[in-house]
Parts: sequence; C-alpha cells; structure tokens
Amino acid sequence: APRVVVAGETLIDFLPDREGSLRDVESFTRRPGGAPANVAVGLSHLDETPAFSTRVSDDPFGDFLVETLVEAGLDTELIERDAEAKTSLAFVALGEEADRGFSFYRDRTADTRMEVGGVPDATLAAAEWVHVGGVTLTDEPAREATYDLMRRARDAGATVSFDPNARPELWDEFDYGDSVATAFGLADVVKATPEDLAELDYEGDPADIARDIAEEGPHTVFLTLGGEGSLAATTPASPWAGEGEESVVSHGGYEVDPVDTTGAGDAFTAGIVAALVDGETLSESLEFANAVAAVTTTAAGAMTALPDREAVRAFRESES
Ligand code: ATP
Repeated sequence: APRVVVAGETLIDFLPDREGSLRDVESFTRRPGGAPANVAVGLSHLDETPAFSTRVSDDPFGDFLVETLVEAGLDTELIERDAEAKTSLAFVALGEEADRGFSFYRDRTADTRMEVGGVPDATLAAAEWVHVGGVTLTDEPAREATYDLMRRARDAGATVSFDPNARPELWDEFDYGDSVATAFGLADVVKATPEDLAELDYEGDPADIARDIAEEGPHTVFLTLGGEGSLAATTPASPWAGEGEESVVSHGGYEVDPVDTTGAGDAFTAGIVAALVDGETLSESLEFANAVAAVTTTAAGAMTALPDREAVRAFRESES
C-alpha cells in the first residue's frame, strides 16, 4: 500500500503563445496541472507513488487528465469522474503587461465537488504522510472533504502537510485567511512561499515568518524562496528538530537557467516528502528537494518536467 496520500485538484492550464493581456492571446498550449496533481506525479517519478484522490469531469478534458495521471504511474482507484460538472480550466497570462496571472474557469467544477470519504479509512491506515492544498478549501463540499481528510489522517497517525497555494481570485464564499489558519491548525507540516503568506499579513524575514507559523500548530514549516532555495523552521515537537531547540535550517538552492518555473514549488514538495518518508535528515531533504525543483525549472511544463531519481542524482553530481 502507498506510504503517501495526496488529495486535491487536477486541472488544465492553458499557456498563451505570447505575453500580455489575455484579450490579445489567440492560441494556447494545454498543460495538465493542479498543485496536488503535480505533487502526486512528482512523487511517482521519484518512486514514491502515492494514492492520489481527485475529481474531474467525465468530459474530454477529464479524459486527458486521467490519461496523463495514469501515464505518470498513478492508480485510478481514488480518481472520481463527475458527470454533472466540468473540469477546471485556467488561462494563464504572462509578462509584465499581463492583467492578472490567471483567469480561472472554475465555477462549481468537478474539483470543488470532491466529497468527504474520497480517501477511505483503509488507505489512511496504511499511510505515513498525507498532503493537501488550499485550493480545495474555496468551495463546499471539497472544503469539508479536505478538512475531514486532514483530521482523519491525524487520527490515523500520519504526518499531514498543507500548501496554501494562494490564488486570491478563487476565493469568494469563504475567507482565505481564516481558512488557511484552520488548515495550519490541522497540519503537522506547512510548505508555502512568502507570497502565499503576504496575503495573510505575514511579512519580513522568511526565517521569522516560518517561526511565526510554527507557533500556530505545525511543527515544521518549509518556505521556498525561488532562486534563493528554501528553509525549514522546526519546533521542539518536530521529529526533525535539532537538539529540541526551535531552529531554522536552510539551503541556498542551485543555479540553473530556468525555462519555466511553473510547478517548481510542487516539485519541491514532492522532493521533501519523498526524502522525509525515506528517513533522510532535514538538511539532506532540503538539498534534495531544491535539486528536484531546480531540475523542474529547466524544462517547459509543470508535470512533464518533473525529474526521476536518476535525473536528480546526475544533476547533483554535476553541481558538486
Ligand atoms: P510555482 O508557484 O511556480 O510552482 P513557487 O512560487 O511555489 O513556484 P518558488 O519558491 O518560486 O516556488 O520555487 C520553488 C523551488 O524551486 C525553490 O525553493 C528552488 O528550489 C526552485 N527554484 C525556483 N526558481 C528557481 C531558480 N530560478 N533557480 C533555481 N532554483 C529555483
């Protein structure tokens, strides 16, 4: 049985053929995405194939996504097809002239209709780690399904990780800040970027921000810092805490020529989870996850660019 469970949205990003306002874009390239889906595929590439719980429409976009997940080695057991809702789509605007980063077509789509119990207790009983994200908290019933999964995972003794994935334009019924605070209270591990957290009024030095969040429930907090790498703050309750002291460990990342950084954060999450469930130390895990993420930025597409262990090994060797 899989040691890791991931749950959340799978969607299609449509990437524009030019920079600027979506008003002026004539053609788009489709890319499978959704932060949890990226994490699930990333883990599969790293030989830590998770149980992945998601919900897409039974429309052709859903067919394409399920095919993509299956090709990545994921099992379809926890993938639901929804005959009454469409698959989420996101049109991406690029460049300085881009009006907004994304335009989401996500009104009552299949991913918002994930239900409580989508991950059975039997799957959780075998799991060591459960990862969810913030996007499924925007609408019911996926919101309760996400919180319920976090609670049951905790009760089952798994490590629960949460990535807020701030997308302000997706929040309308519920408050992003309150929702994320509730999730922080249910999570053992948080992975975020300073941008996700600026929305929540966390500002200043990343190490201080990570320490502040660690006071709100999670025992371990990872912040990714783009080209500057990443850091981890732990409380004494963390299994990765050094000598019982609250502490911060960081790794400055790798220098690469990025082609497309989409999904780098999700690649990092896959790397961290794969390393930590394997029993690696916190600093080795940070280094490994930064390498997984750095390699991901060197090719186009979030999911397709996720490396396998051999690619990560070769990259780290070339860097040392
Ligand atoms: P995205 O939203 O595009 O998925 P993110 O904003 O969540 O990304 P970042 O902090 O930008 O996350 O990047 C995640 C990780 O990817 C970083 O911690 C780092 O390891 C790697 N990374 C990102 N950008 C670069 C870069 N320019 N050079 C090297 N590594 C990078």
